[in-house]
Amino acid sequence: MSSIDWNRAGRYFLLMDILGGFKLGMKYFFGRKATLNYPHEKGPLSPRFRGEHALRRYPNGEERCIACKLCEAICPAQAITIDAEPRADGSRRTTRYDIDMTKCIYCGFCQEACPVDAIVEGPNFEFSTETREELFYNKEKLLENGERWEAEIARNLEIDAPYR
Ligand code: SF4
Ligand code: SF4
Repeated sequence: MSSIDWNRAGRYFLLMDILGGFKLGMKYFFGRKATLNYPHEKGPLSPRFRGEHALRRYPNGEERCIACKLCEAICPAQAITIDAEPRADGSRRTTRYDIDMTKCIYCGFCQEACPVDAIVEGPNFEFSTETREELFYNKEKLLENGERWEAEIARNLEIDAPYR
């Protein structure tokens, strides 16, 4: 003759499994979310984040880049192409500064090599395109990026300065 497990029967009768599941669901409903509602929410970014490239200017509007080509030489993906000519005042500036973003591996070597903090990788990671051609960046595009992201880039460089 089988005996009745009253404890188990009581749990069934009181729907304890359903209540336990409901409690667990409520815990996660009101708890801290493990996922983000991207793009409306975004996670924190390190000041060393290597995102979209930008060419910076000095506060007076002059280009920082002095066409030394160190970034072009160090780029392991050979993604950077620079042409340069001296100006009438004797200073040297680029006439062409292209980055093939489809080749770039975001290693940051170009930024590390630059003696004047001209080429930098900013915090922007939302620059997907519909065509490959849109990822062939020229000097105008890079300078435009620099103007758009200068505040964030300058702040990140300042935070990272003690460790460089
Ligand atoms: S991040 Fe690296 S791969 Fe990309 S352009 Fe700079 S040096 Fe080249
Ligand atoms: S971006 Fe910097 S490293 Fe590259 S050519 Fe200009 S000054 Fe030299």
